[in-house]
Amino acid sequence: MNPAAFIQIDLDGIWAVRKCYGLPEDDYIERDPVYEEGVLRFLELFRRKGVPASFFVVGRDAQVAAKAPVIGQIAKAGHEIGNHSFDHTLGLTRLSELEIRDNISKAQSAITSLLEKGGWGKEHYPVGFRSPGYDADARVLHAAAELGFLYDSSIFPTWWGGAMRLMDAYISGRIFSGKRQYGTFAGGLKLLAPHRVKAADLWEFPVSVSPILRLPFHFGVAFLRGFDYFRRCADGYLRRGIPLLYLFHGVDFVDARHLMLVPSRRGASFFNQPIENKLAFAERIIDYIAGNFDVQRARDYLRRFNGSI
Ligand SMILES: [Zn+2]
Repeated sequence: MNPAAFIQIDLDGIWAVRKCYGLPEDDYIERDPVYEEGVLRFLELFRRKGVPASFFVVGRDAQVAAKAPVIGQIAKAGHEIGNHSFDHTLGLTRLSELEIRDNISKAQSAITSLLEKGGWGKEHYPVGFRSPGYDADARVLHAAAELGFLYDSSIFPTWWGGAMRLMDAYISGRIFSGKRQYGTFAGGLKLLAPHRVKAADLWEFPVSVSPILRLPFHFGVAFLRGFDYFRRCADGYLRRGIPLLYLFHGVDFVDARHLMLVPSRRGASFFNQPIENKLAFAERIIDYIAGNFDVQRARDYLRRFNGSI
């Protein structure tokens, strides 16, 4: 039997990406190429390949009238919708327990009320949470469990977090102090496979990294490093029979001209690749995953453990 694979997309809008790089974001919430074209390209690709996916929605986007039908289309296509915080605050772990809980719960209300208005039943409501910038600690997991989530997917089990933060600083041309994305060194010691976190009474679905060196190979990185790099990393999961969690971001499928909305000279040359190349590369990745793994939604994977959760 093939190991399970989960294809997941973080739907950070252009505004959320700008926010990550410390740029003003308020003018970019209504018109957003991530929703206007990115999501549609993902849906089209997954429809053609017949694979289910999980889209993690930021609560603030669920309150934007123009984005509501797009989120409805995700549900209609049978994909899972997850919760990616209310406002994509980087550094959730710097907040108090109450603030963490409020942030996740405000996002959940925004997403569920949108789904309810669209006539989508409770089976579409998010049961998975991913913290912005993969920044989670025991309090975040605890808050998610208390709010009724079945799983968290915020752990990036790498020890290269510091290097990835440096890369961000290079791309944006700015240094940020106190950023906590990509977790800490200890993240590298964490498990690769989905597992139950006993202390918080929910499941953790770690984002996949290469099994030995723990290098990231989500779409943005794999696209720069090439298909063989992706395949070597994914093969490690196949050989070990470990489920694969393969991550995309909404901006991965946005035309390069819109990425100028993240105005940095270095950022532009880093991201400035024709969308056709990105789509063709993504198609190879999806073909590989669908051909070797049993692609499913995380919430369905958990069904087999019903009664033990
Ligand atoms: Zn995000």
